[in-house]
Amino acid sequence: MNFDLPQELAALQEKVRRFIAEKIIPLERDARQTPHGPTEDFRRELIAKAKAAGLLSPHVSKEFGGLGLDHRSKAVIFEEAGYSLLGPVALNIFAPDEGNMHMMEEIATPAQKERWLRPLAAGETRSCFCMTEPHPGAGSDPSMLQTTAIQDGDHYVINGRKWFITGANGAAFAIIMAKLEDGRATMFLSDTDRPGFVVERSMDTLDICFPGGHGVVRFDDLRVPASDILGELGEGFKYAQVRLSPARLTHCMRWLGAARRAHDIATDYARRRQAFGKTLGSHEGVGFMLADNEMDIHSARLAIWHTAWVLDKGSLALHESSVAKVIAAEAAWRIVDRCVQILGGQGVTRETVVARIFADMRAFRIYDGPSEVHRWSIAKRVIKGIRRDY
Ligand SMILES: Cc1cc2nc3c(=O)[nH]c(=O)nc-3n(C[C@H](O)[C@H](O)[C@H](O)COP(=O)(O)OP(=O)(O)OC[C@H]3O[C@@H](n4cnc5c(N)ncnc54)[C@H](O)[C@@H]3O)c2cc1C
Repeated sequence: MNFDLPQELAALQEKVRRFIAEKIIPLERDARQTPHGPTEDFRRELIAKAKAAGLLSPHVSKEFGGLGLDHRSKAVIFEEAGYSLLGPVALNIFAPDEGNMHMMEEIATPAQKERWLRPLAAGETRSCFCMTEPHPGAGSDPSMLQTTAIQDGDHYVINGRKWFITGANGAAFAIIMAKLEDGRATMFLSDTDRPGFVVERSMDTLDICFPGGHGVVRFDDLRVPASDILGELGEGFKYAQVRLSPARLTHCMRWLGAARRAHDIATDYARRRQAFGKTLGSHEGVGFMLADNEMDIHSARLAIWHTAWVLDKGSLALHESSVAKVIAAEAAWRIVDRCVQILGGQGVTRETVVARIFADMRAFRIYDGPSEVHRWSIAKRVIKGIRRDY
């Protein structure tokens, strides 16, 4: 095993680190950060900065203006970008757009790529991914999908309701999961300005870092031409798998960066702040929390890097990404919670960014598969017998 980063990647890592520190962190208190994410004007300003630095959409291929990073390189770069909650927005690698770009590169037709992927990769548009539904629809269990797509000549007519749809408000287009008359799931691409695409409202959530917030979306006889089916008819769940593993792993990468930021702030405080005649850090109770943070950061990063390596070998990494997701989401949460504690009263205020990270991160143990669902599927594979090709 060789953990040395190739020279080019190490240089890119350093470049992103400097970019985040010098250009992005100073903007963290900008008033254009709303409870439903950065305003569109603010997002565009951030995107322009990354573009000027040559760092926009590094995950997409060179053909679509990116750097064509593989999964292992993404692990390094996305962690750096995640050091600021605004970093992923600036680099155009936030959810759901980053996962949508990855999936479209894999399965969209050349015409679909030109129409939807190119402007998305350029940061000119945003997108959303419409899967989750209110009860009795799809949630942890995607097979409960209720939204229907009924064929009408060379069109499909979509009806249903989705919620928690990140970025829905202001998205130029959506990827919609719906079921056909025979029950097979299919993905459709649709512009959001078509009649029948309705964003009912934005949901108030603990997190505020995602552009467009999280919306409740309704499809009222939304007519989509058959040419806008994404991938093959009836293969929706198969493509969801293509999107899910890498998308959940990139969440791990970004949130690891955010956890590292909180750890750095808490470490700095523990070095300087005195109590009972010595620095906080030299009290074992605090020192041990910092040590536990260090161990959590390390184990999360190893799990992420390993899963990235499995993905780079061409595997779907369904098992590894479940393992990494639980390790990283729970480690990051423990880290940030300890940082809040180390900072004392300040930990729950806006004096530092730690309270913001704490609130923004909470949902990560729920989306892209709650920890319990991942544990459940890991257990099923353990019992069945895990097949590894490494
Ligand atoms: C901030 C945020 C952003 C999101 N963005 C999107 C998006 O852009 N697009 C989209 O389609 N969806 C999105 N989601 C939805 C997310 O994917 C779902 O919330 C998630 O899949 C869980 O579904 P649910 O909320 O319906 O919970 P439920 O299915 O009702 O589950 C509730 C809880 O039950 C437990 N549970 C469920 N199954 C099991 C099991 N087998 N074993 C043990 N325990 C279990 C878990 O603890 C789970 O948290 C987002 C959610 C959040 C919070």
